[in-house]
Order: sequence, then C-alpha cells, then structure tokens
Amino acid sequence: MLRDVHLAFIKVHILYHAAKEDVFGIGLIEELGRHGYKLSPGTLYPTLAKMQQSGLLTCECRTVQHKQRKYYKITRAGLELLDDVKVKLKELYEEVIKGKGNC
Ligand SMILES: [Zn+2]
Repeated sequence: MLRDVHLAFIKVHILYHAAKEDVFGIGLIEELGRHGYKLSPGTLYPTLAKMQQSGLLTCECRTVQHKQRKYYKITRAGLELLDDVKVKLKELYEEVIKGKGNC
C-alpha cells in the first residue's frame, strides 16, 4: 500500500520535471533521491515505460558522451493530467496538511 502511494507521488514528480525539461532515468533517480525516495532502475524504467504507453511521455534516444541515453518529454495529455493533479493536490494539501476539510 505504501508502495502504491509512493509510486503515485513519484509519477507526479516525473510529470512535473518532464514539464520543465526533458528528463532521463539516472537524473530522475538522483532527483527523487533528494526527496527521500529510494528508487531502483528496476522500478523507475517500467514506470517510465508505462507512462509512455499511456501517452503521457514520449521517448527519444540521444547519444551523450558516447552513451545512448533515453530522454523523456511530456506530451499534451501529460500536461493536461499534471494540471488536473495540481488542482487535486492543492485540495488534498488544504485538507490533510492544513486541516481545512469540509467534513
Ligand atoms: Zn521533484
């Protein structure tokens, strides 16, 4: 259960960062590590692949310092989902963190 919740937060991070710039696996593992998520490539890459299959990200291979690296870019559908998530995240924050729920 905790893993499911963490994975959802991780997906939001991925969408957010991909909206700002193209992202790649190792970069995301480092970034998420700073937020306290210990993420293995075995978890991240299938997650990225799933997000790609869902049409949230597109992927492109680029050669950086003689190494092939997969870069992920957010799609229009990904941006729309991120906007939707932001509204729900704000509402969740108001209720869970600030205790301003209606019920
Ligand atoms: Zn982040």
